[in-house]
Amino acid sequence: MMAKPTCPICRRTVIDLDARPFCSAVCRTIDLARWFDGDYRLSAPATGAEQLEALEREGD
Ligand SMILES: [Zn+2]
Repeated sequence: MMAKPTCPICRRTVIDLDARPFCSAVCRTIDLARWFDGDYRLSAPATGAEQLEALEREGD
């Protein structure tokens, strides 16, 4: 039973196994930022979405 690992941040299939469970170091950073942001404020970090869009452009 081999389920394809998917990134919990952007839901892409994880190709870079070194970055698991995230698809890349970028999503790992975004997840970490969300953790820290949650401690200080409840609003969603806008920078995370911007980084994600940049990553998706690179990936395509
Ligand atoms: Zn991702």
